[in-house]
Amino acid sequence: MTTDLAKVAKDRGIEYFLISFVDLFGALRAKLVPASAIKAMQRDGAGFAGFAVHLDMTPAHPDTFGRPDPDSLIQLPWKPEVGWLAADIYCDGKLIEDCPRGVLRKQIARAKEMGYQMKTGVECEFFILTPDGKTIADQADTYYKPCYDQMALMRQYDLIKEICDAMLALGWGAYQNDHEDANGQFEMNWHYDDALVTADRHVFFKYMVKTLAEKRGYRATFMPKPFNNLTGSGCHMHVSVWKDGNNLFEDARGELGMSSLAYQFLGGVMHSAADLCAIFNPTVNSYKRINAPVTSSGATWSPNTITYSGNNRTHMVRIPEAGRFELRLMDGATNPYLAPAGILAAGLDGIINNRDPGKRLDIDMYKDGHTVKNVKRLPLNLLDALRQLDKSKVVRGALGDQMIDSYLKLKNAEWNAFMSHATQWERDHTLDC
Ligand SMILES: [Mg+2]
Repeated sequence: MTTDLAKVAKDRGIEYFLISFVDLFGALRAKLVPASAIKAMQRDGAGFAGFAVHLDMTPAHPDTFGRPDPDSLIQLPWKPEVGWLAADIYCDGKLIEDCPRGVLRKQIARAKEMGYQMKTGVECEFFILTPDGKTIADQADTYYKPCYDQMALMRQYDLIKEICDAMLALGWGAYQNDHEDANGQFEMNWHYDDALVTADRHVFFKYMVKTLAEKRGYRATFMPKPFNNLTGSGCHMHVSVWKDGNNLFEDARGELGMSSLAYQFLGGVMHSAADLCAIFNPTVNSYKRINAPVTSSGATWSPNTITYSGNNRTHMVRIPEAGRFELRLMDGATNPYLAPAGILAAGLDGIINNRDPGKRLDIDMYKDGHTVKNVKRLPLNLLDALRQLDKSKVVRGALGDQMIDSYLKLKNAEWNAFMSHATQWERDHTLDC
């Protein structure tokens, strides 16, 4: 039976609901709706003009409607009179192809038909900056190798604690927080779960971190590479496939304790990784994180090549222990729904077509990568990535031509806007030509 949100509001003291969705670029949009109006909104959805956000629509299109999923309800821990709801976007009574949450739900339904459930855990790295976004907020955070720096971590204790307390109160199973490899950079981890649950939490986490940072006079950013000399912000995902409460990736007899199904799934991810880069690494700035030169800490912690390994962080895929792999390709700008949808689409293709991930590489890819031949490389910039996505039969086949064409149209426009803008670097290198 569907949850009655009007009743929930009464029972839990909710005065307002945020009916919220992310568009194709992952930007968070919402309407704030008083509890007295939620009954009709739950049935019909909240109205939005599609052209006004990153959806491939014109001003002449009819309204879209964000229909909230009651199962996604989160009462804001810092403002419990507000209830946040993830919504799916409808137009003319039909779920639109461009709705990122809908795209993920369709892949989840495909997996379910095959008897599978994907679970994901996500590691969202972010920077805490001054309000103008120009520099890191903590001016004492200058150590050249700052990963796990206790002093820098504890100088942000009040903010980190507030976010972690919120996750604990929400029952996400928060379990660790640290200072990451760049000055001003942090990561907070919570327990893995069903891919849709994690995706909704991922959206909410970004909103929560930015909001609580703002409350303390900071600006939090998930931008992939905000500073040239510092490590960028990744969004690694840990992936496993389950059936009836059993992890199908686990097999004690398999290589590294992974089943043949796990290697097929991984084979699919390796096969489509470059095609999915435009979704995993969706901005101009993303390509300054992958393919990056060494940072001031000594490593970029991001991949350049399509390779996998055991517990070795210099490859695109790491198998840290039996039963799961970690895909290290995505960055902080990735769409929380399209990223897992892409992984699942690629993985199901791997299972269906029995794709072989090839041989595991156990070398230090940063140091000895040049010694291996015939290793596939990742696209070098957004335009290459968009062209590659355009040609991808697997991704088009799974996610649908309409969504991919909308995405390419909007992202190519973004690339063209970038290219029409001359930078200081070009002046520095060309003025005296
Ligand atoms: Mg990390």
